[in-house]
This record gives sequence, structure tokens and C-alpha cells, in this order.
Amino acid sequence: MPSLPLFDNLLATPLLAQHTADAHGAVNEGLRQFLIEGSYLAASVLFILGLRGLTAPDKARRGMQLAAAGMLVAVIGTLIDARILDYKWILLGLLLGSGIGAAISIWMPMTAIPQRTAISHAFGALAATLVGISHFDFLTRILGTEVGHVEMAALGFEVMFGSLTITGSLMAFGKLQELLPGAPITYPFQNETNIGLFAVTALMFLYLVLAPTAWGGHTTVFYLMVLAGLAVGVLIVIPIGGADMPVVISLMNSYAGLAASAMGFALGNNLLIIAGALDGASGFILSILMSRAMNRSFANVLFGAFGTPVETAGKASSAGMTVKSVSVEDAAAQLAYASEVIVVPGYGMAVAQAQHQVRELAELIERRGGEVKFAIHPVAGRMPGHMNVLLAEANVPYDKMLEMDEINDQFPRADVALVIGANDVVNPAARNDRSSPIFGMPILNADQARSIIVLKRSMNPGFAGIENELFYDPKTALLFGDAKSSLTKLVAEVKSL
Ligand code: NDP
Repeated sequence: MPSLPLFDNLLATPLLAQHTADAHGAVNEGLRQFLIEGSYLAASVLFILGLRGLTAPDKARRGMQLAAAGMLVAVIGTLIDARILDYKWILLGLLLGSGIGAAISIWMPMTAIPQRTAISHAFGALAATLVGISHFDFLTRILGTEVGHVEMAALGFEVMFGSLTITGSLMAFGKLQELLPGAPITYPFQNETNIGLFAVTALMFLYLVLAPTAWGGHTTVFYLMVLAGLAVGVLIVIPIGGADMPVVISLMNSYAGLAASAMGFALGNNLLIIAGALDGASGFILSILMSRAMNRSFANVLFGAFGTPVETAGKASSAGMTVKSVSVEDAAAQLAYASEVIVVPGYGMAVAQAQHQVRELAELIERRGGEVKFAIHPVAGRMPGHMNVLLAEANVPYDKMLEMDEINDQFPRADVALVIGANDVVNPAARNDRSSPIFGMPILNADQARSIIVLKRSMNPGFAGIENELFYDPKTALLFGDAKSSLTKLVAEVKSL
């Protein structure tokens, strides 16, 4: 049959159009994938740069901005995924999440940052667990397929660590917010029970990964594992004292990261794998650093029930030693005429929110020719970097905040060590008394200054619940009262001199 060009063309046009549309579709899809993976790569780099920024107080703000930008890039990248069929619920979630995030950042006081972090981890872990459950349900019930060993390992890990992080973080939040008793809740064979329950949960996980589907019971075991994980979270956190919660929180941070990373493996999402691994590793390293700075083993923090009320009558008071109190006028004169002052801030400064008054006092002393430095103990306060953040908020220059190792040699030269609401971190018992629970914890050498002024409200002990022999040192004088009000009076008095 002779060729009929027109006929051929007519026939070919829809085919060609189809072919071109397919080619365009493939190009569009390729471009879309390129953009998604490119955004994930950019986000991962920004997360790493953000973490790097957090290694120094003066770069921390920039680090946070980089990490936030990374998260924005990641969210945008995810939103262009072709598998999203409907944006309605996503938009609702975005609005709700952003609203809650904005409210928290505007109204949550600085002193509540530990519990804020705890509740964020609970939400993050809840998201990972819910994604894992719906993924499992989709594969087994809706598609009716078998879940392969590797996929089950990722899913099971995600859900097991996710569920224990939800309740563990909620317990930490409850203790820090004082909705639950802060003291450790203990009972006989507690550690054995907890380890046993965790072992049962891990066995269920192993069953899900290794047992062939033909053996059955996968769905029941899966949901039992979720319930056991939730119970483990509650039980491992209740025996830990409220003040050790920052270590728990960073450990939960690490678990939430591991759950997110496993979710990344289950969903084939590179960003989740990378971000989860960064989160998991940094949280774990931070927990270890905090334990080390308190000279306590990680196991002691987790299983030692530290913070159980102890007999606080110590050696100095029972030996009949007395403390010397000082008036505002005398303390102000001592500070005003000092040529070197080292301020030691602690948890009490945070409670009193006295950082602005401290900065004002330091400026006054400097204007009179004295030099003021701030000595930062790694676990002063109730979370890492607590003092740096508060002092930075009050515009204390970063170069005035010196880490323990940098400043400890300078105490013997200081005319006054001004201890503001710090207790355990300046307790010489950590150096001298082998029987002390804090023996071996590195401390700031405030006792080596020529004179010491301590601002606190009473003779109550600090977090460790033990007496502080520094307060009985003949060189030490105590200015009793709330730190903010004492500092306000000191500022007024120094101004009048
Ligand atoms: P401490 O808890 O040892 O002492 C705080 C002192 O502040 C108390 O002596 C208290 O005395 C005083 N205080 C409380 N409120 C006020 C106020 N309004 N005005 C004036 N003083 C006040 O704090 P430190 O910072 O010295 O030590 C931190 C402790 O926390 C360490 O034991 C550390 O191991 C622990 N920890 C820290 C973590 C961290 O990451 N930073 C994590 C876990 C634990 P008074 O009631 O008489 O006023």
C-alpha cells in the first residue's frame, strides 16, 4: 500500500504527542527528583554547619539560624514530592506546628528551656512512631504484603525507640515542670525490672525481624512492642531525679534521632537518615559530656537514683563552724575597690533571673577601674550552656565568659570571687572529701580567691544535697537574699560610692 503521508501524519500525531508527553513527564520527574535530593543535600550541609556553630557561644546564634534555614529547605524539598496527593492536611499541620512553635519561642521563659526541649522530643518521637505504625499498617493490612526482614528491622527500630522516647520525654517534661515529683521514685528490683522489660521489648523486635510471616502473630507482636516501648519510657525515667533530667533529655534526643534515622531507612529518605544520625550522635555525645563534667558515670546517672533526699547536716556545721554574713554596704565597698573580680554564676542566678543586674554591676566595677570576668562551670545551672545563654541575653561580652580550664588558675589573683546562686560547682569537698557524693567532680577554684562573697537565700544545699565547706571558710562572707534583689541593692550602693 502506498504511503499516504497525510494519513500517516494523522496517525502519528497522537502517538508522537504521547511520546513527547512521556518524555516531558520523565524530564519533569527527573528534575523534580533532582530538586528534592538537591534540597536534602543542602539541608544536610546546613545542619552540619549549624551543629558546628553550636560549639562556641558567640557562633551559636548563627548556628541555629543555619540549622533553621536547613529545615526550611528540607520542608520545601519535601513538599514538591510527586507522591503528595493532597496538600490540605499538610497545610493544616504546617499552620498548627508553626503556630505552636512561634507561641513557644515568644512566651516560654529561658528557665523553662529544658522542659521545652523535652516536650519537643516527645512530639518528634510521636511523629516517627505514628509514621512507623501507619507504614506497617499500610503494608500489612491495606496492601496485604509481607514486610521484608530489612524493612521490618528499620520499621521496628523506629517504632521501638520512638515509643519509649515519647513517654520518657513526657516524664522528663513532667518532672521539670513540677507536674510530677522531682525526687527519684524507687522500689525494690527496679533496675532488674526495667532491664527485663527492655529485654522483652527487644525480643519482640527480634521476633518481628527474624520470624517468617508464616509463623503469624506479627501484627499482635508489633502493637505489643509499641505498648512495651511506651511502658519502658515511663519506667526508666521515674527513678531519675529531676535535676538529672538534662542528661535524660539529651539521651532522649539521641533516641528520637535514631528513630528518625530508622524512619529514613524505612521510607528511603536520605535526609531523615542523615539528620537522624546527626541528632542521635550529638545527643549521645552531649549526655556523655554532661555525665563526665559531673564526674559521674553514665550508668550512675541512669540507674543511680541520684537526688534521693539525703541527710544534709555536713561536717562543717556539725563541727561547730559558723558562717559570716555581710551587709550590702560592706559587700558593695569590697567590690567597688577590687581590681580583679571573678563572678561565678550558678543555678540560683537563673532562678532569680538576675543576669541583667550582674552585667550592670560588672560594668560599674569596670568603670571604676576594676576587671570583671565570668567563670563558667560546664554543669552550672540545670542544662549545658545555661549560664552562657543567660549572660549573653544580658549582653555580657563572650570574651568575658571563661571556661573552667581557662579561669581556674586566675582565682588566686582575684580580690573577690562573687558567687551568685552557685553551690555544688564551688564546693571544695569535690577536691578534699573522699566520702562526698561529688568527690572528683571538677570545680571552680573560688576558694582560692583572696575573699569570697556568696549570694544565696539561706543555708539550704544545692542540687547534690550536701553542705558546702566554702561557706564556712573565714575568707567567705554571705549576703543572704534573693540574688536579683541583692544585686539591685549592690548596684545602687556601688553607684553611690
Ligand atoms: P546548685 O544547685 O548546686 O546550687 C544552687 C544554689 O542557688 C543553691 O545553693 C540555692 O541556695 C541558690 N539559689 C536558689 N535560688 C536562688 C535565688 N533566687 N537567689 C539566690 N540564690 C538562689 O547549683 P550550681 O549551679 O552550683 O550546680 C549545678 C548542679 O546541677 C550541679 O550539682 C550539677 O551537677 C547539677 N546538674 C547540672 C546539669 C547541667 O547540665 N548544667 C545537669 C544535671 C545536673 P538557697 O536555696 O539558699 O538560695
